[in-house]
Amino acid sequence: MTSSEQQRYDIIIVGAGMVGTALACKLAQQNPALQIAVVEAQSFKPGYSESAFDPRVVALTLASQHLLDDIGVWPAIVATRICPYTRMHVWDGTGTGSIDFDCREISEPALGHIVENSIIVEALLDKLDTYNNVELLCPAVVSALNSPEVGGLTAIILEDGSTLRAPLLVATDGANSPVRSMANLNTREWDYGHTAIVATVTTELSHEYMARQRFTENGPLAFLPLQGETEAAATHCCSIVWSVKTARAKQLLVLDDDRFMATLAAEFEYKLGQVTGISERYSFPLRQRHCKDYFKPGIVVAGDAAHTIHPLAGQGVNLGLQDVQALAEEIHRAQQRQIPLSDLSILQRYQRRRKGPNLAMMAVMEGFKQLFDQDALPLRWLRNEGMKQVDRAGVFKSRIIREAMGL
Ligand SMILES: Cc1cc2nc3c(=O)[nH]c(=O)nc-3n(C[C@H](O)[C@H](O)[C@H](O)COP(=O)(O)OP(=O)(O)OC[C@H]3O[C@@H](n4cnc5c(N)ncnc54)[C@H](O)[C@@H]3O)c2cc1C
Repeated sequence: MTSSEQQRYDIIIVGAGMVGTALACKLAQQNPALQIAVVEAQSFKPGYSESAFDPRVVALTLASQHLLDDIGVWPAIVATRICPYTRMHVWDGTGTGSIDFDCREISEPALGHIVENSIIVEALLDKLDTYNNVELLCPAVVSALNSPEVGGLTAIILEDGSTLRAPLLVATDGANSPVRSMANLNTREWDYGHTAIVATVTTELSHEYMARQRFTENGPLAFLPLQGETEAAATHCCSIVWSVKTARAKQLLVLDDDRFMATLAAEFEYKLGQVTGISERYSFPLRQRHCKDYFKPGIVVAGDAAHTIHPLAGQGVNLGLQDVQALAEEIHRAQQRQIPLSDLSILQRYQRRRKGPNLAMMAVMEGFKQLFDQDALPLRWLRNEGMKQVDRAGVFKSRIIREAMGL
């Protein structure tokens, strides 16, 4: 497309992260007549590396796996590199409470899978390539937005001056969503006061396909199992997500690798022995955000553009993929009834389906964070007793596991 050209689509998706690309695949699969544009600011392909893990990983629930399978990309993801986790151990580092989850309690082969973000996006982009009705514009940055009157077309202007129009624009452009700001869709947000440090480590002991998380006085520390390429490394690689108070994170980030690895192993109570190797470290300031309204005429938000939550329960993209499922179903339903894509009822129904579950998950994460932030003895007793009670709770525990897996 040349500068100042104008293009008309049925749906424009801004942001080709995991959520935007999954939505584009799902919509293209549902209806080959739908003309879809996907606009992405960064150059692709992200490209995963055989010799090194992507430091960004996600714990995908079974519900997310089912969606990716339905889109037709799960086999490619499995063939590239994933790691199942069959058990989970969560404990209070300042007390005696702990909870263990085991996939056998709910008769599933795994509780979920740890997958590198770049592998998921790459599989989805490869799939997108197979659809004639999707155009990927990348790198292309949205610089302005013209909201329509009800029933009209939304227009976005790209940095090269070209204009795209569609009756529906979906913003999946991430936590700092420029489209959300341009559309004046307001958020309720606050700083968690935490920064997440992520890295890939090797450990002395085998992870045994168990995801582990210790709640420390500074915040939660998770070791997520990765599938190493060589026999020796097979079960000795983990992705760490260490969420700590920001002042502490600054101190940790300047340590040299040896000091950092020693501090990390001690903070994890040597559950996996010594930490024997580490990749480059990355840090992410953590902020909770939630859009007050998920839409206005012609524009709707999904994924991190609609909500961002603390990574302590690894639910962010899982919620985003549930947004994809709901929005795609509502669009499909409308098309079957010949309801125009600009009709607000589509977006109202989507918001009704997603706002409650997203808010509920955010409230649970906030509750966890607050509970574990407190040092007062009664609260420490409460959380330790609570963990022990849940651990013994039989059917109730199985329900919690199924809920966390999105089943
Ligand atoms: C440390 C950490 C650990 C996490 N662990 C987990 C986990 O275990 N499980 C889980 O479910 N979630 C986890 N999450 C959350 C998860 O990473 C996010 O929910 C997910 O990446 C959001 O995907 P998205 O597609 O909505 O947004 P993004 O991945 O942010 O994608 C947005 C895309 O939009 C593009 N874009 C931005 N602006 C523009 C523009 N103006 N024009 C065009 N394109 C634009 C960007 O380049 C980007 O490609 C974690 C998050 C963090 C920080």
